[in-house]
Amino acid sequence: MARVALVTGGTRGIGAAISVALRDAGYQVAANYAGNDAAAEAFSADTGIKTYKWSVADYDACADGIARVEADLGPVDVLVNNAGITRDAMFHKMTPQQWKEVIDTNLTGVFNMTHPVWPGMRDRKFGRIITISSINGQKGQAGQVNYSAAKAGDLGLTKALAQEGARAGITVNAICPGYIATEMVRAIDEKVLNERIIPQIPVGRLGEPEEIARCVVFLASEDAGFITGATLSANGGQFFV
Ligand code: NDP
Repeated sequence: MARVALVTGGTRGIGAAISVALRDAGYQVAANYAGNDAAAEAFSADTGIKTYKWSVADYDACADGIARVEADLGPVDVLVNNAGITRDAMFHKMTPQQWKEVIDTNLTGVFNMTHPVWPGMRDRKFGRIITISSINGQKGQAGQVNYSAAKAGDLGLTKALAQEGARAGITVNAICPGYIATEMVRAIDEKVLNERIIPQIPVGRLGEPEEIARCVVFLASEDAGFITGATLSANGGQFFV
């Protein structure tokens, strides 16, 4: 029976590429999303991948959503915590709401999704938790105190949980993409992108969503069983830890 992979934010951007790459690698894939029904319908029509709507920021909705996925496809073997948002502002202008929304989705969302699948993975002695953090969680980014804090928190969660999962056959890893060509990055002012961001990337271009998706497929595989608690940087040489 094919393994089951659940990808949060799996209908657009990097998540869509991850969903497709996992499907192509032989997984049964469920793609979660938050609210963009039109994008989810188009994605499902294009790929044949089943989509599920709930917010990762809501614990009960995650537990219900995961139960629906498991009723349809079977127990989740691979969880990809990819859903993420930005609410950028300089710190002196950042509102408590902007702080809360980003922490709730990008950090608490990882807890909300991982906690319900964890007992089953422990019982079955196999699991893969892969969280999409960010270069800006590693180095910090002005205008993104909320996002940098959440993404750095994801790395701490990954390292601690990896230690708890190791004896149960569960690996827990993070990927830190640099700037990837998705709507999130296309939303940045073009002048800022071309004059300030791309010149800082040694390979001289944005990354492609498929380049992150291939990292996920590797970390999900049996071959990656000795890799846990790791942070895989995929950033075109922009930042070394
Ligand atoms: P996009 O904005 O293109 O897509 C985000 C996806 O996440 C959408 O499917 C969206 O659903 C979903 N989503 C947002 N909030 C929630 C929520 N509360 N519950 C469930 N799903 C949600 O993002 P990217 O593809 O650019 O980013 C994907 C991940 O990669 C994020 O975690 C981001 O922080 C990280 N990242 C991105 C980088 C980049 O350069 N693009 C760089 C480094 C990290 P819907 O379609 O319904 O809105």
